[in-house]
Amino acid sequence: MRYLLLLLTLGVARAQKAPAGCRVLATDADWPAPDVWKAELKGTEPIESGVKKHPNFIYEASRVEHVQRAVRFAAKHNVRLSIINSGHDFMGRQDAPSGILLSVTGMKGIRLLESFTPTVKGAEPVDVKTVTNVIKPKAGQDTAITIGAGVTATEITTAAVGSGLFALIAAHGEVSVAGGWSQGGGHSPLSSDLGLAADNVLEYKVVTADGNLTVANAVSNPDLFWALRGGGGGTFGVVVEATFRVFPLPSAVPFKFWLNTTAYDDTKSVYAPAAYFTAQAERLYAAGIQGYFFIYPNALQATLVATSFNALRMPGVLAPMLAKMKAMPGFDAKSLQTMGLPNLRGAADLIQGFFGGSPAPKAATAPPKAATTAPKAAMTVPKSPTLRRRHGPGEMMLVSPGRTAMDSRLLGAEHLADEKRLATALERAMPIKLLDGQLRVHFTTGNKVRTGGKDTSVNPAFRKALVHIVATGVGDGATIPNVDSLRELAPNTGAYLNEAWYGNPDWKKAFWGEHYDRLSQIKDKWDPGMLFYVTPGINADRMEARGARLCKAETIRASNAAPVGDNVNNYTGYKEPSTFPALWQGDGKPALQQTLAQLGGGGLMETLNALLNPKKGTSG
Ligand SMILES: Cc1cc2nc3c(=O)[nH]c(=O)nc-3n(C[C@H](O)[C@H](O)[C@H](O)COP(=O)(O)OP(=O)(O)OC[C@H]3O[C@@H](n4cnc5c(N)ncnc54)[C@H](O)[C@@H]3O)c2cc1C
Repeated sequence: MRYLLLLLTLGVARAQKAPAGCRVLATDADWPAPDVWKAELKGTEPIESGVKKHPNFIYEASRVEHVQRAVRFAAKHNVRLSIINSGHDFMGRQDAPSGILLSVTGMKGIRLLESFTPTVKGAEPVDVKTVTNVIKPKAGQDTAITIGAGVTATEITTAAVGSGLFALIAAHGEVSVAGGWSQGGGHSPLSSDLGLAADNVLEYKVVTADGNLTVANAVSNPDLFWALRGGGGGTFGVVVEATFRVFPLPSAVPFKFWLNTTAYDDTKSVYAPAAYFTAQAERLYAAGIQGYFFIYPNALQATLVATSFNALRMPGVLAPMLAKMKAMPGFDAKSLQTMGLPNLRGAADLIQGFFGGSPAPKAATAPPKAATTAPKAAMTVPKSPTLRRRHGPGEMMLVSPGRTAMDSRLLGAEHLADEKRLATALERAMPIKLLDGQLRVHFTTGNKVRTGGKDTSVNPAFRKALVHIVATGVGDGATIPNVDSLRELAPNTGAYLNEAWYGNPDWKKAFWGEHYDRLSQIKDKWDPGMLFYVTPGINADRMEARGARLCKAETIRASNAAPVGDNVNNYTGYKEPSTFPALWQGDGKPALQQTLAQLGGGGLMETLNALLNPKKGTSG
């Protein structure tokens, strides 16, 4: 009897349909019945949410038809649809508190192309059975690579290196290439030399909201092609394949330095040298030097890179800058550690040289003699049964994704000109209360980023900027870094969409600048029903979260901040040690010394040390 009552109660609760304009929830009467799921979207697995709020089901796609099935199912039954790839998004835009999570991680397959010409039909498709080929690049022809949506930075690198080629990648081996990274712009350690990821996309194949497979390139749906290159992931459809321009494998030399304050608790002195080095951006780019500069409350660290002849010039360019910084008040001249890594050829070696993020595949010693399709193993589909961020060598660290404590700003030459003002702004922006709180200065613009990508929808502020400064750290979700001081310094720039605070004021301008209105029209054309929704994202203000329910917005928002998402799970950090150097250590021994001892310096280090310390010939 009690059981019957419970059923009746549930029945009453389920008797309500979703309100008009809202997506259905599992408690609604119009939520698809189990036999409908089974018949129309077989293979969905429930997600273990625990205390967090995640979509009800995950559906793993390894083929285009799977993606089409999921998109059509979601549209037909009015079920919320989210897309997950590597799970790395700092704003947790792959997550939602209800609906289906479509995973594209299993969409593998790589093919190298000796040349690429855009056609209406699109590039030859790849899938999990595609055997990665080896090509011999021909002079005067743009070589390219077609990849499945789930291919990661390490995987594309491993495939390209076999042909003596290099594809742009994020600075971590597990970030996907065709997903949120390239669709949001995508910078790379070599972006200043080669442009942003979006600048090098030649074609996307997308399952659009109507469930059709759509080719987007220069001659087929150019509006969608433009929007996908900068408009952001999870917005215009599900990218199932992408073709990128590839480059001859560069010969690159990463270079690191570390400098800390004399007194451990001196958290005031770093800002003058930090502002000075940040303001060197234009000179660094002019010398072909790019990379990342980390400002901690009592230490400075940089990982920079230059290729070919620029690598030889790098010590000469950096030496006077480092000499000046170590002589600044509050600094321990002895703490300067420099490390030039041996010449690296493989891009994955490069990533590892930077962050130790992923295992380096064996780099090819020389390009193959002749073009061949010598069989290599087809790519395997990894199992991804739960919602997670793949991270660490071999995806060892599987953590639940979520919103990361972060805030950021793009700064141009005019904002770096007054070093005193910049130093004050940096000090105010430092998230000192966060564990590992730091400011990351990304030297990933200049040169090709400035001159290229005119036909993309990437935030125009990125093209004009010299640095993107990111305030971040590991938090509990409650403490969010605040770079208001940088917004005051640079009120008319913006922030890079993939490394930002979701609550950025004036969000449309901040993330897309003058491209927003056109992006909004294209979104209306391809997805008028907002099947694909992320916030911040194009037309995100057409929707609103009412509790766990996503509905068409009824009111025009007064706020100029992006609509607050309902993906409420906060990322609270790994249980593993950070791959970034720890803070200045109390015994006076910077953590980098250990890394230095482990990796050993390259010839570049000796050159630099000789330049810095002409008499002694050793580091200071
Ligand atoms: C360790 C680490 C290193 C990073 N390094 C860099 C870097 O060097 N340069 C840089 O620019 N950024 C970097 N990022 C930020 C990165 O660009 C974002 O995290 C990006 O969103 C990752 O995209 P993803 O598809 O791999 O991740 P996900 O979190 O799976 O997806 C991100 C967004 O894209 C959507 N999406 C994913 N796949 C598809 C698809 N196939 N079709 C449509 N939408 C899709 C998702 O719905 C979500 O909205 C880094 C992040 C981390 C955590």
